[in-house]
Amino acid sequence: MKTDSFKLRHIGPSTRDLSSMLNTIKVDSIEQLIYETIPDDILLKQPLNLDSAMSEQEYSAHMQSLSSKNKVFKSYIGLGYHEACLPAVIQRNILENPGWYTAYTPYQAEIAQGRLEALLNYQTMICDLTGMELANASLLDESTAAAEAMTMLFSVRSRDQKKNNVNKFFVSEEILPQTLSLLKTRAIPLDIELIIGDHQEFDFSEQFYGAILQYPGKSGEVYDYADFVEKAHLSNIKVAVAADILSLVSLKSPGSFDADVVVGTTQRFGIPLGYGGPHAAYFATREAYKRNIPGRIIGVTQDTNGNRALRMALQTREQHIKRDKATSNICTAQVLLAVMAGMYGVYHGPEGLQYIANKVNASAVTLSKTIEALEFKQLNSVFFDTIRIQADAKKVKEVAEKHDVNFFYPDSNTISISLNEATTIEDLNTIVSIFATVAQKDSTQIKELEESNIISSSLKRTTAFLSNDVFNTYHSETELMRYIKKLERKDLSLNHSMIPLGSCTMKLNAASEMLPLSDPQWGNIHPFAPINQAQGYQEVLKKLEDQLTEITGFAATSLQPNSGAQGEFAGLMVIRAYHESRNDHHRNICLIPSSAHGTNPASAVMAGMKVVVTKATEEGNIDVDDLREKALKYKDNLSALMVTYPSTHGVYESAIKEITKIIHDNGGQVYMDGANMNAQVGLTNPGVIGADVCHLNLHKTFAIPHGGGGPGVGPICVAPQLVPFLPGNPVIETGGDNAITAISAAPWGSALACLISYGYITMLGAKGLKESTEYAILNANYIKERLDGHYSVLYVGERGRAAHEMIIDCRPFKANGIEVTDIAKRLMDYGFHAPTVSFPVAGTIMIEPTESESKAELDRFCDALLSIRQEIASASSENPNNVMKNAPHTLAMLTTDNWEFPYTREQAAYPLEYIAENKFWPSVRRVDDAYGDRNLICTCAPIEEYMEAEV
Ligand SMILES: *Cc1c(COP(=O)(O)O)cnc(C)c1O
Repeated sequence: MKTDSFKLRHIGPSTRDLSSMLNTIKVDSIEQLIYETIPDDILLKQPLNLDSAMSEQEYSAHMQSLSSKNKVFKSYIGLGYHEACLPAVIQRNILENPGWYTAYTPYQAEIAQGRLEALLNYQTMICDLTGMELANASLLDESTAAAEAMTMLFSVRSRDQKKNNVNKFFVSEEILPQTLSLLKTRAIPLDIELIIGDHQEFDFSEQFYGAILQYPGKSGEVYDYADFVEKAHLSNIKVAVAADILSLVSLKSPGSFDADVVVGTTQRFGIPLGYGGPHAAYFATREAYKRNIPGRIIGVTQDTNGNRALRMALQTREQHIKRDKATSNICTAQVLLAVMAGMYGVYHGPEGLQYIANKVNASAVTLSKTIEALEFKQLNSVFFDTIRIQADAKKVKEVAEKHDVNFFYPDSNTISISLNEATTIEDLNTIVSIFATVAQKDSTQIKELEESNIISSSLKRTTAFLSNDVFNTYHSETELMRYIKKLERKDLSLNHSMIPLGSCTMKLNAASEMLPLSDPQWGNIHPFAPINQAQGYQEVLKKLEDQLTEITGFAATSLQPNSGAQGEFAGLMVIRAYHESRNDHHRNICLIPSSAHGTNPASAVMAGMKVVVTKATEEGNIDVDDLREKALKYKDNLSALMVTYPSTHGVYESAIKEITKIIHDNGGQVYMDGANMNAQVGLTNPGVIGADVCHLNLHKTFAIPHGGGGPGVGPICVAPQLVPFLPGNPVIETGGDNAITAISAAPWGSALACLISYGYITMLGAKGLKESTEYAILNANYIKERLDGHYSVLYVGERGRAAHEMIIDCRPFKANGIEVTDIAKRLMDYGFHAPTVSFPVAGTIMIEPTESESKAELDRFCDALLSIRQEIASASSENPNNVMKNAPHTLAMLTTDNWEFPYTREQAAYPLEYIAENKFWPSVRRVDDAYGDRNLICTCAPIEEYMEAEV
C-alpha cells in the first residue's frame, strides 16, 4: 500500500473497518452497494480523465513552483481592492485554525456563541463606521452588495411608486466598473431601468425610486453628498452609498447625511487580496428595513435562565421560507472573512484605525505634492487615498512595470494611484522616481509624511466610533490570543466531532489543501493585475476549470460565482441569454420540484422567471406525470427545470433521464443544483443525466471549509450550447464570446479559495475521487443500518438504499412531546452537532456523514442517537421537565448546589461512556428565538442597554 497516498488521510474508514461495515449493510462489496444504490443507466463506464494523484509532499512542491509564477507587484490599482496587513495573531489563530474555519453556519446557537460574538463585533463595527442602525453579518462582495441594495430599495418602494411602476434607479458615473456591471446583471430581469450619470447634474423632478453613489468616487474624489440625499428624499428617492470602509474612519459617515443603505467591502481590514477574494462585503441600513435586509443578522436574546445569548435573528424571514417571494437568494456569505475583519477592528481599536487612516491620507497628500513638484497635474481636489495624475499613461506604465508597480490607467492620459495601509515611505519614493523618470527630472526624496488637512471640516468625521469595550481591551497579543481562544472554545467545529449536516457535506478540509492560503505569493495579487503577473493563478484556475468540466461531463466552467446560490442565478441568466439568442424572449417559466432548496425559487425570481412548483410522489420522487403535464402546458414558454440530483430527499431518482428528456422535448433547459455532487463524482455526472448546466458548491463537495457560513465558491459548468454566455468582467477579459455581464466583482470570483478545491482534486485523482463518493454512500448506509428498527428513514431508492444522506422521521415522537429541535439540542450533550433540521421535510433530520468520518466516529454518533431514542421513549408529553426538553445542559447547571431535575447529573451530561474523555460544554442554555426577534438588538451595546430593552 502507498501509505503516502492522500486518499488514506481523506477517507475515514480504514480497509480493516470496511468488511465489518459491509457486513452490517449486508452486501459483499462496495461495488454491490453502488449497484443497489445508483440506477444502471446513469453509471459512468469510464474512469474520470484526470492526472494521477499527487502525494501531499508532491502537491506542496507543485504549489511552491506555481506560486513563483505569480509576480507580486506593489498594486496601487484600487477600485475596491487594496493591499492590507493581516495581523499575524489573526492569521495564526483564525485563518489557520480549524476551530474557526471548519465551523458551520451558526444555526445551533448554543454551540456557536463564539462566532456569533465575533460577528456581533463585526456588525457593531460596520454600524459605527457607516453611521447606520443595522448591519448584517456579511454579503459576498461590494458589487453584489450594491445590487442587493438596488433590489431591496426596489422592493420597499412606496405604494404609489409600485402602482405607477416607478422603476428608474440612478447610478453615479463614479461607481466602480465591476459594480456597474453587476447592477446591470441584476436590473435587467427585474425590469429596473438604470440611468447612469453625474450626480451633480441629477434632475430630482424625474420619477426615480432610488440612487447609488460611490464614496469616495472611483476616481478618488470625495464628494459631499448631503445635498443630494436631502433633495432625493424630498422626491421620495432612496439613496444607497457604496463606501470605502477605511475612508469612513476619516470622513463623515453616510448615516450622518441620511443615506438609506450603505454597502462596501471589508477587504482592506486585514484580508489578503487573493486575486479577487474571498472578502466580506457589508450591508448596513435603517432599522425600518430589518425585514427586507438580505443575508443573516446576528442578534441578542436570552437563554432559558435569562442569561444573555446570541443567535441569528429573524430566522423566520430567512430566504428558504420566502421562496418565490424572496428578493435575495443569499445563503452562504463570507462569515470567516467577516470574523477576521471584525477582529482586525478589535486588534486595532479606534486609535489604531485612526492612525492607519491618517497615514494613508497623509501618504496620498505627500505623494500628490511631490509629484506635482515634478510639474505633473493632480486632478482630485478632495481625496482620501487616491490621486489622479495627468501624464502619458503608456510611458508611465512602461517605467512602473520595470519597478514592479501597478497603477490604474483609466485613459491614455490619466494615472490613478490608490495608496493603502502597507504603503511605506520607500514605496512612495519608488512611485516618485517613476514619474521623475518619465519627466526626465531628478526626483526629490520624501523623508516624512506631511500632515494632511485636505479633508475639510464639512466632510470630516466628528463622531466617535468603536467605543465599545471589546474594541478597547484586547490590544496586546496575549490578550487578543486569549480572547480569540475564549470564543473558539464556545464553538463546536469539525476539530471536535463530526457535523453530519445533510445537504451541506461537512467533510475534511485538509491542512495540505489550506496551506497555500497563507502564502503571500498567492495572497497578495490584485484581481485587476495584468494577466501576465498572475500566471501561477491562471494555471491553477484553468486546470481547476478543466477538472470540474471533466467531473461534470460538460464543456466548460466559470469559477466566477462565489456561492452556490450565485451559481444558480448565474446558470439561470446563462439559460436566459441562450433563449434570447434564439429569439425565444418569452421563455420565462421555471419548473421547480416542491422539495427544492429555498435558493432555487429565489434565484429563479431574481432571473426574471416565473416559478411553477411540481409535485413529489409519496416515495419522495418527482411526480413524473405531474411534471410532464406542466411541461406540456407551458411548452411555449418553458425556460428551465431546476432539479437537485440525487434529490434533496437523498435518493437517486431512476426517472431522471426521462425527466430531463421531457424538459428538452418542450424547449426547456435543465439546471441541476449540484449541492449533492458528493454523491456523483466519479460514478455519474450531470452531463450523463441530461442536464445542461449545474453549479457546484466547492465549499461542500470540494473541501473548501464552511468557515461558519462562508466563504463559498459556486462555479457553473455548462453544456456546449451555453458556453458562449459564461459571465464576463468589465476590467479583465474572461467568460464566453457572448458573455453575460458580471455575476461577481472579481473575474474569477474567490480565486484564493479555489486553491483548496484544486488541491483536493489534484491529491485525490480519479480513483480517490470515485472512492470518496463510494465511501460517502457507504457511511450513509452504515448509519441507516445501525439505526434500523429505532428510527425510520423517510425515503430510499428502488433497491432500499440511501444515497449519501438520509432523512429521519421525527414526527412520530410528538406523541411523547418531543420535537425535532429537542433531538438537535440533546445531541449537543452527547458532543455532536445536529444534522440538518426540518429541511426539506418539516419535523425531520437529514444526516450526511461524508466519506471523511471513520467507523469509530460513526459508531459514537449512532450510539448517541440510539441512546436518545430511549430517552424519547421514556419522555412524556404530560411532563416536559425531562432530559430532552431541558437539553442542552451547561456546566453551570451541572455544578449548581441544588440540582432539581428529575434525573441525575450523569444522565444529563454523561449519558454514554465515550463522552467523559472529550466533553463539549454548550456555553448557554437553550436560546429564546422569539424573545430576540421581539427585542431586536444587533450590535454589542453595553449590557445595561440590553437590560433596558427588556421592559
Ligand atoms: C447549500 C445549498 C444551496 C445553496 O448554496 P450556497 O452556497 O449556500 O449559496 C442550494 N441548494 C442546495 C440543495 C443546497 O444544499
